[in-house]
Formats: sequence, structure tokens, C-alpha cells
Amino acid sequence: NSIYSGVRFALARSKNERHGELIFLENENHSDNKRNLELLNALRKSISNDCEDFYMCYQPVVDAMTGKIGGMEALLRWNKEPFGEVPPAVFIPLLENDVLFFELGNWILREAMTEGKKIIEQHPEFILNINLSYTQLERSEFRGTIVRLLQETDFPPQNLCLELTERCRLLDMNFLRNEIIFLKSFRIKIALDDFGTGFSSLNLLRELPVDLIKIDRAFIKDIQTNTADQAIVKSVLDCAKLMEIPVCVEGIENKNLESYMNHYPASSYQGYLYSKPIKIDQFKKMFS
Ligand code: C2E
Ligand code: MG
Ligand code: MG
Repeated sequence: NSIYSGVRFALARSKNERHGELIFLENENHSDNKRNLELLNALRKSISNDCEDFYMCYQPVVDAMTGKIGGMEALLRWNKEPFGEVPPAVFIPLLENDVLFFELGNWILREAMTEGKKIIEQHPEFILNINLSYTQLERSEFRGTIVRLLQETDFPPQNLCLELTERCRLLDMNFLRNEIIFLKSFRIKIALDDFGTGFSSLNLLRELPVDLIKIDRAFIKDIQTNTADQAIVKSVLDCAKLMEIPVCVEGIENKNLESYMNHYPASSYQGYLYSKPIKIDQFKKMFS
């Protein structure tokens, strides 16, 4: 089993870092690889035990014009001794290529939709954003699964927005487009997350019928002083406007940045200024 984990780990590293090409692990920092392998095994164990040690946090998405909360993004967390709180940026790339990720992905969808449904009963316009890995979308069962989960949780599909990242480029474009068209036929919305950070954001925008663009914090954090960031963000917003696609700006950390961003025509904001990702009970208190 540990040899099998090792092979899977090497495969994930190859896909994530080298576009699936040959990697040499023996020349690298041995203790890092060992720790990652231990992490992966612990993560797999959590998934096998009904996703114990995983929990969801939610971050508000606010309307750029009114400042009111219009939705939330579901963000996955994992806390397990002796590792403690491990950030998703660390554990998702490790897990994403594992066969078990699909099970975890379904747990995320069910969990977030169950909580989101309760809010939508009071706020019918409320949008729930859930991040989707390309490895979920590529599974042939995904279509059936999403339809079943919508029924099980009685979740209105038009209130659901699935966020895809640039890593979707690893899928066949025709396949990807067809999956998106299928989801949209249920009125599910599709967002392009981390827009601009990858190699092919513009190509994905051109090829896919998306409902929302999310500009990554990388372009926002220094925008007040960095003229390249200013030019890029302005171009993305101009382009989105012509295409009639709303844009969410991520990483609004303070009032100052918010006022600055108000000069740009974004449709929604997300960031620590409004709230860090929090547990659902806290979210509801803040929202009501
Ligand atoms: P993302 O989808 O782009 O999520 C936004 C990330 O930015 C979150 O980090 C959030 O906590 C962080 N953030 C939000 N506002 C601010 C801000 O004002 N300042 C700063 N410094 N950071 C801010 P988080 O929760 O650590 O997630 C990192 C990434 O992990 C996510 O990026 C997403 O790609 C992935 N991820 C998280 N949950 C899931 C999940 O359930 N499924 C999948 N497939 N990926 C997930
Ligand atoms: Mg996201
Ligand atoms: Mg993002």
C-alpha cells in the first residue's frame, strides 16, 4: 500500500508541476517528500472515515454597488493532529489526482448545498459558490452526481455557481465545453476562478460560456502602486463588459483598497475587509 501511495504521489507531482512529464524525486529534499506522503496518507484516511477532520468555512461575496452580501464562497478546511490546520493550497494539489478526491468533492457539494439551502429559504437571490476541481468534472459520474445532489438537498440550481480554475485546461476543450453546457442547462452558473494567474485564462474565456470572472488577489494586492496591475485589471474589466460577464474582485483587504477599486466597474467584491472565511453559524449571525 505504501508503494502504491508513493506511485500515486509521484504521479500527482508530475501532473501538477511538470504537465505530466518525467520527474526525478530522488534528487530532491527527501524530508519534504516524506512529509507530503504522510500528509497524503492521513488525508486519505480522513476521507475514508466519512470525511472526518474536514469542515467548511464560508466567505461573503458582496455587491460592489450596494456593499450588501449577495452570496458566499464555500472553502474547504482540514485539521488533523499532528499536522494541525493545513491550508487547502497545500492539501488540495496533493489530493486532487487521487481517486478518493471525488468522494471528498461530493461531500463538499452536499455539505455546502445543505447549508446554502437554509439561507436561500430566507434570501431567494443568495448565490452559493463552490470550487470544483477539474478531476471531479472529468469523471463520467459527475453529471449524474450533481443532479442527484441537487435533488437530495432540494437546492435551487440557479442559486449555485461552480468555480473552475485554470487547471481545467488539462481537460479536452470540447469535453469541458459540453460539461459546462450540461450544467448550464440546469441554470447552474459557472465562474472562472483565479483569472489571469495561469497560462490560458484568455483562451478559456474565449472557449467557454462562463457567467462570472473572478480576478485573483495577485493582481489586486499592489494595484494602487503597480501600473501593470492597473492596466491588466482595467483590460479584464473592459473585456468582461464587452462580453457582458460580471466580474468579482478578490482580496479586498481594507477600506482604502475598496475605495480605490470603486473606480473600476466590478460587480462584486470578496476579501478580509468583509470577512475572512468563517463557519456557517458565524456567517449566519453576521448576515442576519
Ligand atoms: P480560491 O477559490 O481563489 O479562494 C480564495 C482564497 O483567498 C481563500 O483561500 C480565501 O481565504 C483567500 N482570501 C479571501 N479574501 C482574502 C483577502 O482579502 N486576503 C487574502 N490574503 N486572502 C484572501 P483558501 O481558503 O486558503 O483557499 C485557497 C484555494 O484552495 C482556493 O482559492 C481554491 O482554489 C482552493 N480550495 C479551497 N476550498 C476548495 C474546495 O472546496 N474545493 C476545491 N476544488 N478547491 C478548494
Ligand atoms: Mg474560488
Ligand atoms: Mg480565486
